[in-house]
Amino acid sequence: MNAPLDTGCRDTPVLRERGQREVFCGLTGIIWLHRKMQDAFFLVVGSRTCAHLLQSAAGVMIFAEPRFGTAILEEKDLAGMADANAELDREVARLLARRPDIKQLFLVGSCPSEVIKLDLSRAAERLSAQHGPKVRVLNYSGSGIETTFTEGEDACLAALVPSLPETQARELLLVGALPDVVEDQALDLLAQIGISPVRCLPARHAEDMPSIGPNTVYALTQPFAGDTHAALQRRGARRIPAPFPFGAEGTTLWLKAVAAEFGIAPEKVDQVVAAPRARAEKAIAAAATTLRGKRIFFMPDSQLELPLARFLTRECGMEAVEISTPYLHADLHGPELDLIAKGPVISEGQDVDLQLDRVRATRPDLTVCGLGLANPLEAEGLATKWAIELVFTPVHFYEQAGDLASLFARPLRRRDLLARQHPNRLEAAE
Ligand code: SF4
Repeated sequence: MNAPLDTGCRDTPVLRERGQREVFCGLTGIIWLHRKMQDAFFLVVGSRTCAHLLQSAAGVMIFAEPRFGTAILEEKDLAGMADANAELDREVARLLARRPDIKQLFLVGSCPSEVIKLDLSRAAERLSAQHGPKVRVLNYSGSGIETTFTEGEDACLAALVPSLPETQARELLLVGALPDVVEDQALDLLAQIGISPVRCLPARHAEDMPSIGPNTVYALTQPFAGDTHAALQRRGARRIPAPFPFGAEGTTLWLKAVAAEFGIAPEKVDQVVAAPRARAEKAIAAAATTLRGKRIFFMPDSQLELPLARFLTRECGMEAVEISTPYLHADLHGPELDLIAKGPVISEGQDVDLQLDRVRATRPDLTVCGLGLANPLEAEGLATKWAIELVFTPVHFYEQAGDLASLFARPLRRRDLLARQHPNRLEAAE
């Protein structure tokens, strides 16, 4: 199952493409961030298009008191005929007067606010002075010009880091927004291993946000937190290098790396994780019967591509044809590349037409891609998996490992079923 380390892809030449890309913008991250940070409000300063994107990405969720919204830039704002700052101040004052539960307000930049060069960092400073200390106002960009969809979370967390208090305490910090139930599982495992206290970025409430200092060590749970990683380093904190906690193997390696930092032997980790690890391996094995021997092609969307390819090739027996990521961060993704057996094309960025040509030429069994590319590929007889589902579904750590494998097995099973029930239809598509 496990490739020896010297066959890894760290030295594989990377195909770098900088053409047209097909991926959601960073505003999408608001959908999971607003669930995680329970007293935060995300105010997008954007157009009606941005508002529609958020509404449709949020799907059928209806809240009595939603925790995100859009301050719409009208034509007169875009034409510079109105003072957008004054309107923003009025909008924020109205919102905070109506919603005393809001403790953190994020002004989220968009393509239109960037194009008219609305300075949201100055607006955040001005509004913090007006509404602080009760409400902390910060800003980041979720614009499609600057960000792909998971980079919205990274930008949000990176914006938080400079505002966090200083500490000299030696503390472990988990970095990345996980669903509460998954975060609780991780905290429970770490406590059983003997590691405490553990802080989380982001915390669920403003008052629980961590302090940072030269004795803070942090473990990333999300592979797209490159800017947050840089911001934490600027505060003197140090990262624990490790593969990401996807699958039984990734979770074990991640826990062992954290344990080693605190002088705890790997045998202790093995002892604590024996039962959940066995459960995870059993659940993965069930899905792997569908996945084994199948070829997978990752288009660049979430920056989860390298850890997921590592999981699928090493624990589920799949073969990776191409693993493409929006940004390849050698430092953060290096431990993953070390574990992926040589063979797949490793690519960064996208030139969508060229990449689609490679998909058509190699005809993988499964292509992981954005929503906009999935339907055309399905129409050509190629099975697809929506990258965004991997971010919206709890997939980290042992208890979710079986679900993670199943997410990839499902489209293949559906396709087999269709082939059996309607053999002519699939042949026609192919
Ligand atoms: S930020 Fe840009 S890419 Fe995103 S919805 Fe708004 S206009 Fe579209």
